[in-house]
Amino acid sequence: MDRGLKILLDIYWCSKGWKKPLISDEDFEIAKNEGYMFDYPAPVSHEETLDQIREITSRISPADVANTFLYSLSTRKLEYRSALGSYWYAVSIPPHKSTEDHHCYCCGWYPWKITPDAYELSHGLNVLNFERYKWGGVRHVQANYALFDLQQFLKLPVVEHTAEDEGILHDILDCVNELEPSNKAGALQKLITKKKILRSNKQEIDVLLDILGICGVLSSDRNPCYAVRFCGESDRNPPEFTNDRSYPVNHWKASDGICKERYKIVFGKEY
Ligand SMILES: [Zn+2]
Repeated sequence: MDRGLKILLDIYWCSKGWKKPLISDEDFEIAKNEGYMFDYPAPVSHEETLDQIREITSRISPADVANTFLYSLSTRKLEYRSALGSYWYAVSIPPHKSTEDHHCYCCGWYPWKITPDAYELSHGLNVLNFERYKWGGVRHVQANYALFDLQQFLKLPVVEHTAEDEGILHDILDCVNELEPSNKAGALQKLITKKKILRSNKQEIDVLLDILGICGVLSSDRNPCYAVRFCGESDRNPPEFTNDRSYPVNHWKASDGICKERYKIVFGKEY
């Protein structure tokens, strides 16, 4: 593992979970020079963020992100997994204006601060990159993360997935048929974890299922993916809703099955 990556992975997380990020100037320089950590970003307006998203998604094809997602399954290189979620979210964001200066409740944009406090300084883009390498991302449906993830995606060395990767995805999706009709994403995660289909852990599989929801493979007619019907941040989880997975897999049930139409669009072949 690169030294810079080890530094990034150790800053925010320990065996007990999240920790207060502390880093020496020397370690930061190492991780920054290797491309794993970044200075706190300059402010980018809502409009400019959407422009950058439009520009970057025009340079990426669905086949590119499907290929790297598949590649991540056998290799456990989670930074290659994340972009499938970010791409299908980013490409689906409709033109809109932000109603608030501090946050857009449609696309999830928030402004980087002109004078960040200590907490903001120690998180910035680096916590996003940490989540990307640790779990394959978490905040795919926030404009800031989606844009950052796709920018980093274009810097990754080119890879090619194998037939083994496609087999793993099929084994994951075949688990849906073993569930009770009322089972939700949590039960699917537990079954995939129990069957040890891929080198992984609970958190990674939770995120993997989030991504399969965002791209629409695990979605429903009631709650389709963003590309079919964009759902703004404020409409995703009604107040009484307790499931903390990402939209729309948080609304999915085993009886909804696998969306073969979306599978074909996302992975370029019949399920
Ligand atoms: Zn917005």
